[in-house]
Amino acid sequence: MFCYQCEQTAGGSGCVKVGICGKNPDIQSLQDILLFGLKGIASYAFHARELGGVSSEVDGFMHEALFKTVTNVSFDLKDHINMVLRAGEMNLKIMELLDKVHTEKFGNPVPVEVKTGTTAGPGILITGHDLLDLYELLKQTEGTGVNVYTHSEMLPAHGYPELKKFKHLVGNYGGAWQEQKREFKEFPGALLATTNCVLIPPPNTYLDRLFTIGITGVEGATHLKNRDFSLVIEKAKHSPSLTDESGKKITTGFHYKAVLSLADKIINAVKEGKIRHFFLIGGCDGAQPGRNYYTEFAEKVPKDCVILTLACGKYRFNKLDFGEIEGIPRLIDVGQCNDAYSAIQIAIALAKAFNCSINELPLSFILSWFEQKAVAILLTLFYLGIKDIRLGPSLPAFVTPNVLKVLQDEFNIQPITNPDEDLKNILC
Ligand code: SF4
Repeated sequence: MFCYQCEQTAGGSGCVKVGICGKNPDIQSLQDILLFGLKGIASYAFHARELGGVSSEVDGFMHEALFKTVTNVSFDLKDHINMVLRAGEMNLKIMELLDKVHTEKFGNPVPVEVKTGTTAGPGILITGHDLLDLYELLKQTEGTGVNVYTHSEMLPAHGYPELKKFKHLVGNYGGAWQEQKREFKEFPGALLATTNCVLIPPPNTYLDRLFTIGITGVEGATHLKNRDFSLVIEKAKHSPSLTDESGKKITTGFHYKAVLSLADKIINAVKEGKIRHFFLIGGCDGAQPGRNYYTEFAEKVPKDCVILTLACGKYRFNKLDFGEIEGIPRLIDVGQCNDAYSAIQIAIALAKAFNCSINELPLSFILSWFEQKAVAILLTLFYLGIKDIRLGPSLPAFVTPNVLKVLQDEFNIQPITNPDEDLKNILC
């Protein structure tokens, strides 16, 4: 972290020359958390604005929060903690708005089985979060013989009626974003990145087939404008075709409205003791060692428990067969990280049905984090007062011990340990 006061680069968060520049490391840490949260909020706000959703309240907060991080504005720790929790509140509002504009434009997602094999013919592989890009691409490829595949974060798109109606949206290819370099090299067709996470291609691989649009950019890749996809369609037509390959089907599209249509069944299954516990296992994925914890944990979840999942972390286990309880799937994929809003609505509805708080529900949060959107979602869970979250693969380095103590005292956040230990402690 660079300290503008003493123009020194400090190791980790906080200025080493405390006292001289007056910025204590805990306030610096809270400001780092706030800034990361704002970046996450900004990404969801950007997508909402693309679909006509604007919140002057959230925009106003962004200005106030950024001003709060200006030098010598506030030295009050409590003030910063409140600011961080307000960021969580604003992220909830922006996720709600994004859900509203997504469902108004593309319909309410419905549970759907998505093919992971390939279909004979030319293809385009699209990754990222921008559903409007996908929609326009599907319209422009209709009748051209070019098939469209989603990658990583784009998987939940298959649940939206106005997107899944396109017959040439043929499936999901590959795993989470960190697999891109290998999977994009293997995919013979054209590649389109709409938002983060996009990686720089290894030399002499697929840069000539990579297209970017909107907020995204990779040096040497063709950057498209105005959602005109003619160049990427041409590239697909002149690239080697894919062949018919079967693959395991994965499910997605369990928007809260779809899940709540099963509410009576779920509530009865809980009351009859057929469902003992719910685990929300999800969040970011990445190449960092230790993330196989989530695969092992999901595999070890007892058969009378249900797994809710969302975001990139689902790829650690979403091809496994978890079966059902009373016709209720044991793996419920709610969507992408912005669909944490759906997971929260499901938890709120269950709490209402059982006349208790979310923290009193037989529900545990087993989360993985990596980037700023995940930080914003974590702040939303803190804002909602959700406790006992287990977080990994490691706790964020920008959180100082004192700030961590506040979070532990207030929300009992815990680092993951190992699946057996954590499962035993949760279910005992
Ligand atoms: S914030 Fe995490 S879950 Fe969301 S797209 Fe980024 S890596 Fe995936």
